[in-house]
Amino acid sequence: MTESVGIVVNKSTWSFENFFAAQGMSLVINIAMIVIILFRVLTIIGVAKDIIARTNKLWLQIFSLFLVTILSPVIGLPIYLVIRPVGYKRDRLPWREAAVMNLVVCYNCGTLNPKDHECCLACGETLKIKCKQCNKNYPHSYGYCSHCGAPNIE
Ligand SMILES: [Zn+2]
Ligand SMILES: [Zn+2]
Repeated sequence: MTESVGIVVNKSTWSFENFFAAQGMSLVINIAMIVIILFRVLTIIGVAKDIIARTNKLWLQIFSLFLVTILSPVIGLPIYLVIRPVGYKRDRLPWREAAVMNLVVCYNCGTLNPKDHECCLACGETLKIKCKQCNKNYPHSYGYCSHCGAPNIE
């Protein structure tokens, strides 16, 4: 009876002092715990950045984070690597060629539009975004603002 109470008290008094005072087996366990926590946190951040760069679909972004948080990275990460879209959003658009021809690509449906169009002629999606640095509008598919050169970060 008294023994089990003692174990509970030990667990609840975890502190940094105890952590660095730990030696031998318990130090190994403490370091292993930190590595596991680091692996989890970094995996979640990495997957979040990766899926945002790959798709605009909110349900897919939420589902990907669900995989690596709830299912744990060990199970969720391989599943995520299989189900994620193969290419990045920007790679799927022929924006380099289009820019040369004074055309912009609709990121929603892929239709080529004249540069001065505000909305896509095929699907009505807005084609321009507001620059975070100079507040002027420029085509969504540009890598950099055509007025001030600020990078197009989504
Ligand atoms: Zn469109
Ligand atoms: Zn700008």
